[in-house]
Amino acid sequence: MKKMALHWKIILGMVLGVLVGLLMTTFDAGQQIVQDWIKPFGKIFINCLKMIAIPLILAALIKGVSDLRDISKLSKMGGRTIGIYIVTTVIAVTIGLVLVNLVNPGKAISPETRTEMIENYSGDTTKYQETAKSQKDAGPLQALEDLVPDNIFLSATSNRNMLQIIFFAIFFGVSLILIPEEKGKTVKTFFDGLNEVILKMVDLIMLAAPYGVFALLAAIVVESPSVDLFWALGWYAITVVTGLLMMIGIYMTIVSVFTKKSPKFFLDGISPAQLLAFSTSSSAATLPVTMERVTEHLGVDEEVSSFVLPIGATINMDGTSLYQAVAAVFIAQAFGMELEFGTQLGIIATATLASIGSAAVPGAGMVMLVGVLGYAGIPEAGLALIFAVDRPLDMCRTVVNVTGDAAVSMVVAKSVGKLGDPKPNNWDDNYEAVK
Ligand code: ASP
Repeated sequence: MKKMALHWKIILGMVLGVLVGLLMTTFDAGQQIVQDWIKPFGKIFINCLKMIAIPLILAALIKGVSDLRDISKLSKMGGRTIGIYIVTTVIAVTIGLVLVNLVNPGKAISPETRTEMIENYSGDTTKYQETAKSQKDAGPLQALEDLVPDNIFLSATSNRNMLQIIFFAIFFGVSLILIPEEKGKTVKTFFDGLNEVILKMVDLIMLAAPYGVFALLAAIVVESPSVDLFWALGWYAITVVTGLLMMIGIYMTIVSVFTKKSPKFFLDGISPAQLLAFSTSSSAATLPVTMERVTEHLGVDEEVSSFVLPIGATINMDGTSLYQAVAAVFIAQAFGMELEFGTQLGIIATATLASIGSAAVPGAGMVMLVGVLGYAGIPEAGLALIFAVDRPLDMCRTVVNVTGDAAVSMVVAKSVGKLGDPKPNNWDDNYEAVK
């Protein structure tokens, strides 16, 4: 019998997770059972992915950069990567703004519903405001300062310090190119080997993906807040999701125009990473799988993917920026505010920066949204309005964040002559081997 492809297994896991979650909400002890007996497996699965994120970035980037053997190649690729990332993010925010102004979802909210929602979620809002405030109190060059760690071992103890690790790894890789080949040989061979080992770990972890996403979705379903407020947010959610779908369409167009690969080829290759992004709401947790898919299934040379993707996972969040633009204007509309054209242009800039600054973890986009609201003079208490639907939207925007990184990696690879044919080593083969 033909074996089921990995993405179908993951989808099956998701569907069963939702069904079991729904079933468990129908009786009193159900929620507790899911929390005690199912949720931990989801957590273990995410932890396995997060556990290898830092070694993966270190090994892959050091290998990737030192493979380039030529600094000018690196700066060419770096410039293109950052340039395309910024352009796609600005396109995403603009789409978000146009849609929210056309649909006007906030105007449908009645004053009573608004009060009810703000009362229900005001505790959570304060928490987000406080986190955002501590970020806002920093000086204008704080982000630059934060890029350079004062102790690399200390930074490597937290997944939140991805950019510092990226900085160190690129610096290390560049220095490795600059020393005589003979002297650097052992170090290079070590990181090449380490990279292979970690990619194998991703293979093995992915065997558990269908079960992991089953557990994650069952837990999300039993924990989601009451559904009676959801209807008021329906239009807002539809606006965000429509924008996100348009972005996926844009990526498919970009990929087919610039790399001549069909949208089906792109989606088939990247779909397991998308499904994982959806289940984990974290681009960082998905990164190992994104790297594997892009390299082995989309034909991007490791030299490019190991450079473009870790940077993309941290700074390129098109889904998040689109969502921030829609959410900001939606909240303004709900409070009856009219935003000037100039303010909306400012939202393009602030949402672009806020998405770059958002950590690749669940809910980060909402924390950074506080900055966008602050800029546009929109009441931050309005966060409470969108709280109820934030998690599902976070799942969707993370899919776009990850898809955007993959699309850009293909375009950059093509532009430097490093886009080849997929390598046939996929999980299903490994699955057979492991079995
Ligand atoms: N969860 C998103 C990500 O990891 C960030 C966000 O928008 O909250 O890509």
